[in-house]
Amino acid sequence: MPLILAVLAFFIQSGVGDESPLFPCPDCTKQVSRRAVSCPACGCPGAAILEAMRADEEQKRPKHIAAIDADGRKGTAVLVRQEGITYLIMDAFVLAKTTCLAIKELGTDKNIDYSEPELMSDSPLLRFKVVGEPHASPLELSSLSDSGPPSGFLSSNDSRFAKDDPTIEMIAALGTRGELQAIHVGEAWVSTRTDKVWTAAKPADLRAQLDLLARSRESVKKDKLSDKEAADLRETRWLTPYLESQSAALLQVKQPPPQP
Ligand SMILES: [Zn+2]
Repeated sequence: MPLILAVLAFFIQSGVGDESPLFPCPDCTKQVSRRAVSCPACGCPGAAILEAMRADEEQKRPKHIAAIDADGRKGTAVLVRQEGITYLIMDAFVLAKTTCLAIKELGTDKNIDYSEPELMSDSPLLRFKVVGEPHASPLELSSLSDSGPPSGFLSSNDSRFAKDDPTIEMIAALGTRGELQAIHVGEAWVSTRTDKVWTAAKPADLRAQLDLLARSRESVKKDKLSDKEAADLRETRWLTPYLESQSAALLQVKQPPPQP
């Protein structure tokens, strides 16, 4: 996994806004100097004040990651900018059974408006065009370093994620010219390339297909894929080769092992 070797956390940019010399004491909340040895009001030690200050700055630091709430299914998305257009890239499976999708940028807490969903033709990644530019500074793919491999990545290594759902993790790995090469969602690296084809996806169709796959997967787990489900899997015109391969794998399980 050479991509991890040079970890450049691009999302940690020096966007620490409030440089006021005073900071509220974590114990008594009175304003205290950032350089105070201790709080003059309550005696809280300077180290504790400094720690609280750092935690506060971390909270305010812009992140290029958005939190997704799809009818209660939590996920994450990466905000990237490519040729002047900002995109939000996320795992399509978060959308299964979704009727309402809420996306909020973690760095700013602002809601993200999106349009024109596209699906990577050979992976379960979904890309939305971001409407307007509400967010601070998405990852600029074209302006990243060109100085040799492996480049860098963007991660959801963020305490607020951990609070919401410690199991969800999403990392985007970038190539030497800033091209998006892979996204790590949950436990799997999903290979992707910006020069690969994205196809327009109708969210309703996508949801229906993801839903069928999810239902069938449950049935296979219980060892009873119904004839109806098998027929649906066989007859669906899948939106992407990836989804088709998922369907084929489920049908494979359904079939009895070949006779010698
Ligand atoms: Zn104090």
